[in-house]
This record gives sequence, C-alpha cells and structure tokens, in this order.
Amino acid sequence: MEGSAVRLQGLRKAFGDTTAVAGVDLDIADGEFFSMLGPSGSGKTTVLRMIAGFESPTSGRIELAGQEVTGLAPFERDVHTVFQDYALFPHMTVEQNVAYGLKVRKVPKAERLLRAREALGGVRLEGFGGRRPSQLSGGQRQRVALARALVGRPRVLLLDEPLGALDLQLREQMQVELKAIQREVGITFVFVTHDQEEALTMSDRIAVFNQGRIEQVGTPAEIYERPATPFVAGFVGTSNLLEGASAQQVVGDAGTYSIRPEKIRVLKESAIADEPEHSTATGTVVEVVYLGDATRFLVDLDAGGRLTALQQNLETSSEDVAAYRGTRVRLQWHRRHSFKVPDAR
Ligand code: ATP
Repeated sequence: MEGSAVRLQGLRKAFGDTTAVAGVDLDIADGEFFSMLGPSGSGKTTVLRMIAGFESPTSGRIELAGQEVTGLAPFERDVHTVFQDYALFPHMTVEQNVAYGLKVRKVPKAERLLRAREALGGVRLEGFGGRRPSQLSGGQRQRVALARALVGRPRVLLLDEPLGALDLQLREQMQVELKAIQREVGITFVFVTHDQEEALTMSDRIAVFNQGRIEQVGTPAEIYERPATPFVAGFVGTSNLLEGASAQQVVGDAGTYSIRPEKIRVLKESAIADEPEHSTATGTVVEVVYLGDATRFLVDLDAGGRLTALQQNLETSSEDVAAYRGTRVRLQWHRRHSFKVPDAR
C-alpha cells in the first residue's frame, strides 16, 4: 500500500510452546502516531521487536515503506527504538550521547554537533548539551533518549513504554510533549503501552491487543465509544456492561451493552423518568468514591448487574458524597450512549 510506513502481514511468533503473536495484520500510515495497547503478555512488545529486527518472526512478512525487511538485521532497517530505561551512556555528555549514532555512521564532526544541537532544540533541551545524564531529571533523560533517536532521522520511531519509569505528573506532561514533538518532526511513531489513558491521549490510531491478536484498530474515539468486542470495552475505559436478562429489562434487548460511566446520571429513585429516548434503571449504591473533581458511584441494579456512574462534582463535597452509600437511586442515560457490543470473535 502506498503511504504505508509499516505493514505487517500474517505475523506470528512462537517461543517454544508459547505463542506470543498469533497472526497480526496491520498497516501503519506515514506520519501516524500509532499505539499498540494491551495487557501485559498480549504480544505488543514482541511485535515491536520484530519490526525493529531484534526478533525474527516464526512466519509472516514485515514491510517498511513498501520494502520487505523481514530477514534484515536491525541496522539495515530505517527505524530506531527508544526503550523505557533510556539506555544513555553515563560517561558521555548529553551532546555526545545524542551524536553517538552519527559518529558510528561516520558523519563529519561539525555536522554531528550541528545536528545534535538541533535535535536537543527539538526536544526543548537547548543548553543541556554539556551535562552528564546523571545531572538530569527523569523527564529530561527521556527527552535526551528521544533526541538521540530523532537525530538519525529514522523513518519510523519505535517506542516501548518510554514513559513507564516516570511519575504520574511528569508522565502526563511528557504525553503532551511527545505528541507535540511527533507532530513537529512528522516521523511515524509506533508506541507500545499498557496504559489506556496514555494511548487515548496521544494516538492518531490504536490497535488493542489481546492474547497475541489485535481485537480492534481505530481512532481513540472509535475505540472508546464503539468497542468492537467485550474485551475492548472492558480494557479501554471502565468496564460497564449490561448483559443478558438485565439488558433485556433495561434496554429492551438481551445483548451486551456498553455504557460509559460519564454518560450516566445519578438521580433520586423517585425522580420521574419520562425523558424521551432515555433508558433508566433503579438500584442501590454499593460504593461511592470521591475523586476530587468527580465522584464514582457503583450501583447494583434491581434488574441485575452493576454499573459505574461518574458525576462531576459541581456542587458536591466529600461529606455529601459519603451519605450516598447504601441509598436507592435511579440511573439514567440517553439511549445513544448504550452501545451494543458485537460478540467476541
Ligand atoms: P508487557 O507489557 O508485559 O511487555 P507484552 O504485551 O509486550 O507485555 P510480550 O512481551 O510481547 O507481551 O510477550 C508476549 C508473550 O510472549 C508472553 O507470554 C511472554 O512471556 C512471551 N515471551 C516474550 N518474549 C519471550 C522470550 N524471549 N522467550 C519466551 N517467551 C517470551
């Protein structure tokens, strides 16, 4: 396919008796920020390592920019991998770290320095070139690793949980920066993460992995609002499913329905449920969690099953919230927000 940066066809990888990757077909477009999302052990890292050339597939084919690379060594592929532990050289300065790959490729010194400085500017680390990695914060080290990857101008950048070692606040900040950097440089990013929020925040498209297979590929909104399987509905966002008999009673159909918690309103049980196009269900609050900006209600429905509802704390305080535990409520949501999940394949 033209415009395809990475193309995987029938990709499989077995380690002895373990099938790590059980048949993956995927097209990643040029310039895309593409995430591979899934629980631990679902095969995402193995796919990434096969694209990089660190593992060879048991079967299947890998193309980069339209050229088959399945049998090529890592250095023969126009990709670069950024690992979670950064793998910076401690005895070299930041600038030397960034320029190292160019030195190996025998790029002349003046050009090396120029490009290293340019790459450091690109990750907003001007003026840090003379420091050692030990004199940097975790986020800065991460950015050096990124500059080192970008300096060689690879066609595709492979990132394996690159923010995994950072604390939450820094991680969220780096998510925004990483996306901005990617947009500026226009290089295809293939990003591995088990963090659904991270994938939703940064990606143009996401592939959701489960047991060595892809369950769904789509934009963040598609994945979140139109999960293709019960697994995706549960893994991305809070699992909030109405099934079988309770779905029959509440929605009027005995399928599996996914409703996002923020779409559900929590009302008094006595509230009159006559809004058109809305579904409603009564139940008992079994748990209330005060989250600061919002409150999470876990409600056992009279019809059977349990739903989570998330309410913005517009006027509520933590004391009000606690009083809800054990009370009877009515949940209500617009019908367009209960989405029928196709059966698992
Ligand atoms: P994580 O987020 O924990 O890295 P993952 O989704 O990236 O998980 P993989 O690392 O790709 O998953 O692993 C997929 C499966 O393959 C796992 O069951 C793992 O134990 C197995 N596996 C991975 N590498 C090897 C190896 N070198 N030898 C044997 N088994 C392996």
